[in-house]
Amino acid sequence: MSVIKIKSNQRVKLAEIDPEDTGGLEKQAAKGILAKNIERLAELQEVLYAEGKHALLVVLQAMDAGGKDGTIRSIMSGVNPQGVSVTSFKAPTAEELAHDFLWRVHKPVPPRGMIGIFNRSHYEDVLVVRVKNLVPKAIWQPRYDHINNFEQLLVDSGVTILKFYLHISKEEQKKRLQSRLDQPEKHWKFNPADLGERERWDDYMQAFEDVFEKCSTKTAPWYIIPANKKWYRNVLISETIIKTLESLDMKFPEPAADLDKIVLK
Ligand code: ATP
Ligand code: MG
Repeated sequence: MSVIKIKSNQRVKLAEIDPEDTGGLEKQAAKGILAKNIERLAELQEVLYAEGKHALLVVLQAMDAGGKDGTIRSIMSGVNPQGVSVTSFKAPTAEELAHDFLWRVHKPVPPRGMIGIFNRSHYEDVLVVRVKNLVPKAIWQPRYDHINNFEQLLVDSGVTILKFYLHISKEEQKKRLQSRLDQPEKHWKFNPADLGERERWDDYMQAFEDVFEKCSTKTAPWYIIPANKKWYRNVLISETIIKTLESLDMKFPEPAADLDKIVLK
């Protein structure tokens, strides 16, 4: 079982990465691992908060029905809600469009001590914007460099960045969209506009491949997560977050005084 971590300037072909992959893991075993990971993540979040030296930013990108919401719901189910913020990036407002594309992104970056999750992100500005020609190439082309510089600024300020692409197949997307049509309690999730994005599937794959090549850096890497199987996706992402937080070697702060001399009356 291993995640696919993109090296700097590495060109990947998404068509060559199997979204069905389960790394030989069985669903039952995966559920056990995930339960443990959820507990471990809660411990690590507490020390992240207590120590207050680092922030963690998790970026999630995927095609529609790729599982961004489900990932957040499942992986973060054990952590103290006060220590996590989730920001969903929708089509920009008129005010946001009147600023540079990173203006709306900078503020929700988590402060030290916090975990921040981006459900979509500044990468939309080189994905949907590029695929649908929302701005000319001369505008989106320099954005890869702007993104790398912006992320380096964050890293230099104590933010650890993990970027996950939830890789589902076009067939799996069809199944998931169909189930939104078939089940009345899922109708609210069905957005007819998603069908237009689905028609541009190949253009999106190319735009994603360019993102991975240009914006996976040593300090802010992209991970490709085979995501047709939700339970495998959850194990891979939770493990990657845990390993990353463990590598920060965080510690609870020293107590202010000799606590063992304090006697409560
Ligand atoms: P859900 O799972 O609820 O469908 P979602 O993330 O797809 O979640 P929506 O409100 O359906 O949320 O879609 C948000 C839309 O906003 C997406 O189509 C996305 O591409 C678009 N969007 C996000 N950022 C930008 C941007 N910078 N420019 C243009 N469109 C954007
Ligand atoms: Mg949507």
